[in-house]
Formats: sequence, C-alpha cells, structure tokens
Amino acid sequence: MLNKISLSNLPLIPLISLITFTIIGLIYSLKFIKNQLFPNKKLKKQIINPPSDSILSLMKNTPLLYIKSLSKITGYNIYAKLENYLPFTSKDRMIKNIILTAEKNGKLNKDSIIYEGSSGNTGYSVAIISKILGYKCTIIIPDDCSNEKINLLKTTGCKIIITKQCPFSNFKDNYIRLAKKLSEKDPNGFYINQFFNKENYLTHYKETGPEIYNQLKGKIDCFISSAGTGGTITGISKFLKEKNPNCKIILSDINGSGMYNFIKEGVMFTKEESESNRKKERYYSIIEGIGNNFLNDNFNEAIIDESYKVSDNEALFMSKFIYENDGLFFGGSSSVNFVALYKMFLDKENNVVNSITKGANVVTVVYDSGIKYMSKLFNEENIKGNDIKNIEDIKL
Ligand code: PMP
Repeated sequence: MLNKISLSNLPLIPLISLITFTIIGLIYSLKFIKNQLFPNKKLKKQIINPPSDSILSLMKNTPLLYIKSLSKITGYNIYAKLENYLPFTSKDRMIKNIILTAEKNGKLNKDSIIYEGSSGNTGYSVAIISKILGYKCTIIIPDDCSNEKINLLKTTGCKIIITKQCPFSNFKDNYIRLAKKLSEKDPNGFYINQFFNKENYLTHYKETGPEIYNQLKGKIDCFISSAGTGGTITGISKFLKEKNPNCKIILSDINGSGMYNFIKEGVMFTKEESESNRKKERYYSIIEGIGNNFLNDNFNEAIIDESYKVSDNEALFMSKFIYENDGLFFGGSSSVNFVALYKMFLDKENNVVNSITKGANVVTVVYDSGIKYMSKLFNEENIKGNDIKNIEDIKL
C-alpha cells in the first residue's frame, strides 16, 4: 500500500510542475521579504545614471519632450529638445568644448584670461565654466541685456564690461568687437569667439544632432530653430541632412534680424533694415540671444530650407499659450520656434514644407526658461499692447 503512493509512482510531469512552482514561489517570497527588510537595496537598482565627479560631464543628454497642446492642434508629433536642462545654460556644451579643445591645443595656461562678448546665455556659461576650471574671465555685454542675466553673471565674480547696444558694423563699441579687441591687447587673453569658432557648430553636429536622432530612432521629418550664432541650427541641420536629405530645416527669426532675408533672398537685409539705418537699437525686438545682421562662420554653413519671421507679440502669446496648456514656461527665443512651427502648419500652399503633414515628427529646441525674462518679456507694460488673444490670430 505504502509503495503505491510513494513519490516514484506519481506521474512525472505534474511532479516536476509542482516542484518548479514551489521553487518560484519561494524565490519571490524571499525577494519580497528582502525588499521589506532592506528597501535601499531596491532603490540602488533604480539609479540609472552613475554618480558624476564633475558637473562638466553632465553637459549632455538632455531630454526630448512631447508637446501635447500644439501636437493636438497641428496633427504633428512635436518634440522639444530641452537644452535648458543643461546645468547652467543652453550654451554649456559649446563653451565646455571650446575651452577643453583650447586646453588640449595648448592655448590656455594657468594665467590665461578668457574673453567673450555675449548678449545671451553664453556669457554665463563662459564665466561659470572658467571659474570651475580655474581661469579668470572678462565678459562684455550690451546694455539691453535682462537684469536677471546681468545679476546672475555678477555672482560668478568675473569682470563685466557693459557697453552700449549697437550693431556689428560699429567697430568701436559693439560688444563682440570689443571682446576681440580686449583679448588681443591682453598678453594672457584667450578669445572664445562663439560666432567664428567652428567648434560651436561642431558641438551640435557631434552631440545634439545625434542625441535627437537616437531619441527618435532616426524618425525626424523636420527641425525648427531660431539662431544667434547659428551654431545650434547649423550643427543639427548638417547632421540630420546627412542622415536624411528630406528632413526639412526651418529657421525662425525675429523682426530687425537679417537672417530671414538671407534664407529667402540670399542677402542679409533689406534697405530699411540695413544696419546704417539703426541709430538707436540693434533689433526691433526685445527677444534676446537670437537674430543677427552679419554672416558668420557658424551660420554660414547651415542647411536651411525655409524661414518664418515672428513678432514679439506672437512669441509672447505663444509663451503664455504653452504655459497655460502644457505647464511649460519658455523664454522668447524658444517661443518663436513654436510660432514658426505653427506658421509652417498654416503654410499649406508652400511646396517646400507641404511634405510635413499629419503624423510628421517635428523637433525644436528650448533654449531657456521664461523666468530669465520676467522683467522684460513678461513685463505688464509689454503685455498690454498684445493684440494676439487666440492661436488663430497668428497669421502667416
Ligand atoms: N536662445 C538664446 C536665449 C540664446 O542665448 C542663444 C545663443 N545666443 C540662442 C537662442 C541661439 O543659439 P545659437 O547661438 O546656437 O544660434
């Protein structure tokens, strides 16, 4: 009798199943008990990025964010490359690479003083990265920079020279020309030269472009960006066009800048916009960091298919629209990108862009947050005259 119910007499398959399930059950119970007793061990496994020993190593791999509101309206899949997620400013990667390349080439030593002219974010990246690497630096800025940016720059302890805002054609006072001149006079001077140093666009060719490409597994139909030096749009456009010549590259531009004209007509400015006609102001726009009236070695190499001009009112409306609908607070040079994108959507008759239809993956860049422009762009005085109340009020 005992023999009959012994294990060897049980059918083999149910027996193996029973043993397997018992073992699996035991493993999971033990794991559960271990996680309850030592919760930190589980946390450790969740850490994706290993610890970094230098903030410089974190100047890469920014997120790509799907923008719900405008994707819904246009039918495109709109993604924003959040360069504002870099540690200091969207210019971090470019400045880090310029300085590290100069170090490698023996152009910097412990006594070097780094010079740069900047109306945008570059100045802060230069100042803080110089400080981290132990260099002194002098930043020359035009006097129409936002107070937020000037105050931030002051915290680095760098030398700041504020000069009057005037065009590049003004050899004496223009902030870019002054930075170059001062660096040449100083025996220890090193000039970053963001407009003419090709390391600028090469950074975006080697890093930002490939990052976007990988993030979307190569499926990019269109890239849109504003430009200051043009480093970002040039590097990314060169990379994306090499991968897919049908990918459309669109430049967004502001009033008073000649870049739009250059793309449309092949010349930098119309008669009315010529620099000699500008007595007081550089641009007829309060948006900082973008727009230009001279060709430089970075923008010169961009491969651009189409351009849209955006007014300050349109950009201001878009900043508020995206803030209200998506909870994202972008600065002016990013908001113009979204207006240009919307204008491209309206531009149905245009052969250059009408291949961009429903379901297309359209990528743009966020350069910085609206917080930096609270006093200027989001100032009640500037908002008052805004006649754009709905997205439909934006016209081609
Ligand atoms: N937005 C802001 C706020 C900037 O400071 C800059 C750089 N001056 C840009 C956009 C444009 O970047 P890029 O120089 O690569 O064209």
